[in-house]
Amino acid sequence: MSLMAETKQLPLRKDVPVELTWDLTTIYQTDSEFETDYQAVENDLTALQQLSGTLGKSAADLLKATEALLAASRKLEKVYVYAQLKNDQDTSQDRYQAMYARSQSLAARFGAAVAWFDPELLTLSPKQMADYYQQEPKLKAYQRLYDQTFAKREHILNHDVEEVLAGADDIFSSGEKTFGILDNTDLSFPSVTDENGNQVQLSQGVYSILLESADRTVRKEAFQKLYQVYQQFQHTLASTLTTNVKNHNFKARLRGYHSALEAALSANEVPVKVYDNLITEVNRHLDLLHRYVALRKRILGVDELHMYDLYTSLVGEKSPQYTFDESKKVALDALQVMGPEYVSHVKEEFNNRWIDVVENRYKRSGGYSSGTYDTNPFILLNWQNNLDNLYTLIHETGHSMHSYYASHHQPYQYGDYSIFVAEIASTTNENILTDYLLDKYKDDQNMKRHILNYYLDGFKGTVFRQTQFAEFEQYIHEQDAKGQPLTANFLDDYYRQLNQKYYGDGVVSDEQISLEWSRIPHFYYNFYVYQYATGFAAASTLADKIVNGGQADVDRYLNYLKSGSSDTPINVMKKAGVDMTQPDYLTRAFKIFEERLDEFEKLF
Ligand SMILES: [Zn+2]
Repeated sequence: MSLMAETKQLPLRKDVPVELTWDLTTIYQTDSEFETDYQAVENDLTALQQLSGTLGKSAADLLKATEALLAASRKLEKVYVYAQLKNDQDTSQDRYQAMYARSQSLAARFGAAVAWFDPELLTLSPKQMADYYQQEPKLKAYQRLYDQTFAKREHILNHDVEEVLAGADDIFSSGEKTFGILDNTDLSFPSVTDENGNQVQLSQGVYSILLESADRTVRKEAFQKLYQVYQQFQHTLASTLTTNVKNHNFKARLRGYHSALEAALSANEVPVKVYDNLITEVNRHLDLLHRYVALRKRILGVDELHMYDLYTSLVGEKSPQYTFDESKKVALDALQVMGPEYVSHVKEEFNNRWIDVVENRYKRSGGYSSGTYDTNPFILLNWQNNLDNLYTLIHETGHSMHSYYASHHQPYQYGDYSIFVAEIASTTNENILTDYLLDKYKDDQNMKRHILNYYLDGFKGTVFRQTQFAEFEQYIHEQDAKGQPLTANFLDDYYRQLNQKYYGDGVVSDEQISLEWSRIPHFYYNFYVYQYATGFAAASTLADKIVNGGQADVDRYLNYLKSGSSDTPINVMKKAGVDMTQPDYLTRAFKIFEERLDEFEKLF
């Protein structure tokens, strides 16, 4: 179905109705204004380089260098975002391709021009910094920024070693790079017969569509044929993954961290406890996943539930239809619980062309929210009239409102937010929508099925599956640190056991699933995926508080949005009312999952 949709004729960019496009003239009226700023940043580069060596001179010098750096960075972000959005709306335009490429190179040159700043800052002692704050109180506005660098002080090595490490970065990342090239370019996949009897060429993207097929022979064939390919390369892929794990372990040891996990999380100011709590709590609640799987088996009416039966819809392929206009109305209604001020900003987003709505030829696929301190938060969509897209709209709106609040309540240096907290704002909106729709359609069995199915699949794929990945990632790093060779057989065996533990006896752990580790690009991201799970769980809890709580809960939530990066991610979330170093937010999320699972069960 979606495969065919891709080949239909799309309009050219110039034929898209203007009210369905984003208004980038609010960034720059014309491209020549972009050129002016571009040139200004380029001129700043030399000046920034010349400030090297001044931080130790006086408090006034530190202030001058900090402000010069931030001012240039702020302008650069605006230049970059403009070029990126212009390019994404129609990637066939040479003019904007070039503009975007130039902006990328400008960003790289900016990075090189200010590379001296952190090492030089680290030469200032705590005593000297204390004196500086006395002598120049304006420096206090940047204290958290400096402290984030100082927090790394004891893990920074001497100059010669740092230089070797930086110079060898390409070599250290060879495992990741080789995996990427093999997976994206060199591997070739066979064809599979789709529901209509057509031969389609397998790829990662096609695979995930075929796995959702209502036709079991289609998804089974896709599953078997995909893993036939990975099977042939499993020893190579064990080697690329091992190289990556060894890279993390080596650097963590060298820098004096207890583990690669601690090194990775401390880069985002997240304590290891957050990770450990997630894995413990998910393990304590695996019976819920087993129940979900048993229900899936019953609804699909199969004798045996296989790993290739986990993605097909339980409620039929036909999604409820929502046009873009209807979706905006639903989103505004659902978000009423956030209070009039929040809603007024969502209206601004909807009414002032902050969204690029429909598909056109050569437009970038998918959906995102993007922007910077001095621009509106813009959203790119490729609209289709279905429930998924309604959720995408409210998800991206969550990101946009987060950006809006952070940039309107914080100075530039704290006007962004970390990855750890980013998905919480978007997923909270999704969960608010789920609550709203379940209430609205409480007497409509069919709609309730669709909504609960969407929610349960989301929870399974985000909380359970990403934690399974997180557990695997932690295990292989620990094993390597102990000297255990990560051979393909070792990885296969552990992955099969882990998979069996997660899904339980209700699923046939097909032999091929042992190989799943070999095709997941996220295993090269360095302890990244756990944030999807913690984010979803925190968002479930927050949405529950907002929908069923009072004004105080909403105010706390808005305080989180307003905080930007002015405090550590853990403290920012505490402001919202969730302590992510404790397990309660996870148990509450599981409770909501369980209630909805009960409700879904009753509908069949
Ligand atoms: Zn998102």
